[in-house]
Amino acid sequence: MNPEIEARVREIYASADQAVAAFGPKCDASGRCCRFTEYGHMLFISQLEADVLLAHAPAYAKPVTRDFCPFQVDNLCTARDPRPLGCRVYFCDPAYEETGQNISEKHLAELKKLADELSLPWRYAPLHVFLNEGEGTGLAGEETGRIKLPVVGG
Ligand code: SF4
Repeated sequence: MNPEIEARVREIYASADQAVAAFGPKCDASGRCCRFTEYGHMLFISQLEADVLLAHAPAYAKPVTRDFCPFQVDNLCTARDPRPLGCRVYFCDPAYEETGQNISEKHLAELKKLADELSLPWRYAPLHVFLNEGEGTGLAGEETGRIKLPVVGG
């Protein structure tokens, strides 16, 4: 990934991180938010976020399903440094819901503005779509011993 573009994306992440830290939402470290089907939600990311993530995340097995993030290991994120905006901003603390929404919208708009400035098409899709386009490790999911859950919803 172009280092200058990555630096611009990381500036947006730093601003989001600061806004989240200023509120201090609580996290019980259950890890459920990264097991999307179990938790009943889906993580959408933009191409710019995917480029940063794929440039620095550890190897992972493909295919990736919509069910969970392959970077979650023992309830911890193994891609913490390059993780996308949604991972930085989302917390299940009910007291933080509206603030989180506002932080998310503001910084997503900044990512979109950056894409426009760079004349890049705005591509926004579920995490697994980008991960299946990435290099992964070439191992099939079954070879990793991971359990594949049924796909539910979007
Ligand atoms: S990148 Fe990290 S925080 Fe984001 S969904 Fe995956 S494991 Fe969770």
